Amino acid sequence: MIEKRKFYIDGAWVDPAVGNDLPVIDPSTEEEVAIISLGGQADTDAAVAAANAAFPAWAATDPAERVALVERILEIYKRRAEEMAQAMTLEMGAPIAMSRNSQVGAGSWHIEGFLEAMKDFQFDRPLNATSPNDRIILEPIGTVAMITPWNWPMNQVVLKVIPALLAGCTMVLKPSEIAPLSSLLWTEILDEAGVPAGVYNMVNGDGVGVGSQLSAHPGIDMVSFTGSTRAGILISKAAAESLKRVSLELGGKGANLIFADADEKAVLRGVRHMMQNTGQSCNAPSRMLVQREVYDQVVETARETAEKTAVASAHEDGRHIGPLVSQMQWDKVQGLIEKGIAEGARLVAGGPGRPDGLNRGYFARPTVFADVTNDMTIAREEIFGPVLSIIPFETEEEAVAIANDTDYGLTNYAQTQDPARQRRMAFALKAGMVEINGKSRAKTAPFGGIKQSGNGREGGAFGLEDFLEVKAVGGFPSE
Ligand code: NAD
Repeated sequence: MIEKRKFYIDGAWVDPAVGNDLPVIDPSTEEEVAIISLGGQADTDAAVAAANAAFPAWAATDPAERVALVERILEIYKRRAEEMAQAMTLEMGAPIAMSRNSQVGAGSWHIEGFLEAMKDFQFDRPLNATSPNDRIILEPIGTVAMITPWNWPMNQVVLKVIPALLAGCTMVLKPSEIAPLSSLLWTEILDEAGVPAGVYNMVNGDGVGVGSQLSAHPGIDMVSFTGSTRAGILISKAAAESLKRVSLELGGKGANLIFADADEKAVLRGVRHMMQNTGQSCNAPSRMLVQREVYDQVVETARETAEKTAVASAHEDGRHIGPLVSQMQWDKVQGLIEKGIAEGARLVAGGPGRPDGLNRGYFARPTVFADVTNDMTIAREEIFGPVLSIIPFETEEEAVAIANDTDYGLTNYAQTQDPARQRRMAFALKAGMVEINGKSRAKTAPFGGIKQSGNGREGGAFGLEDFLEVKAVGGFPSE
């Protein structure tokens, strides 16, 4: 049994003020594999005090010094990649091959993106060419609380910790209590890289405890949160009292528009993307909108693709999908599959229960529903499981209307070979991100949503700006 009860405060591993054990469960086996401790108010206060004390000196460092620290972090992160992959597979059930490539890879990819963005990032710049005495100075916001989910653990942590370090902020990270092992290892990496005492602190805890304490804390200047819309609302309310900045990356219900002229791999790609990470991605293309001319063929391809999607233990090598993260998540997904059936959607693949031969572990069946209408629960709620809903449409206008008729607005997808329509989709789809024909966005592109998907933008220069205050100076001496 792994025992990891300590927190990282003011540059040292410390015991919790009051012990409060929580087991970490391997979702592939349902066995307890590690013990952490949940922090309380005294731990939160100590971490915030350390971050506050470290802020003035860290904010005053030369950006080149902060870049050098992040380069060391990247080097150690790459060296410890295998340990990191194993930690994520154990805590949240990403299959080991996927952990190595995508889960670990997302972290290094984003660190490299921030380093690239820093090359021409100006913390101090003229307002414009015609106002020589107007200066814009970007300053770190202060001490940031970071609250992260379990589904892409390192991706989420890196998207917060690295830009905050580069911006000159100090911070307290509270990772998901369900997947804390990767963040404990991440903390070892930062310690080894030589992050100055107090600049980066980590306290384990749950939402009602350390999460709420940080959100309401007078010593915190900003909360950067990734997780459910439900928790995002609670955090915003808790933070309102002290008017701190709240940056939110929340849920999604992505539409994937398959037009009759889509390329021949479009459906396969869409179903695989839906099933990746067992459907536990905020940007999952969970509503497949299909033009009537190709509808029957698309449903058939989706059924075949789902049925060919293998499900197995996360510890086995290979291209299968793993379990859902927890019993709670399994129950939620099962409930929504039942609801889809009850509300009249046509089940074409998968369905309730576990896949054959997998009686232990939180495994779910890759599931496809056809003839879904956009008012059904499975079209409105984020399922966060391997469940695809297929909705027919006749015209482009109708497709856009269905896609935009949702509380969310994170990523929408369009599959069409017509460049004029590609352009129209880029503008018409209401979301923080649009991906056309399976082309992902560049390393430094901003990740984030609108409406109930949040308000933050993470990655690259936009991600750095999230952690900075803008100071406008008039009468700045011209050179
Ligand atoms: P969650 O909201 O339950 O938990 C996320 C984090 O918030 C955890 O660290 C948890 O302890 C903490 N938390 C919970 N309640 C809190 C409260 N009242 N106050 C303060 N902190 C609180 O979400 P989850 O189940 O861990 O993650 C899944 C959700 O995350 C999904 O909705 C998914 O769409 C979303 N997500 C969004 C993005 C994005 O970038 N938009 C990325 C990944 C995941």
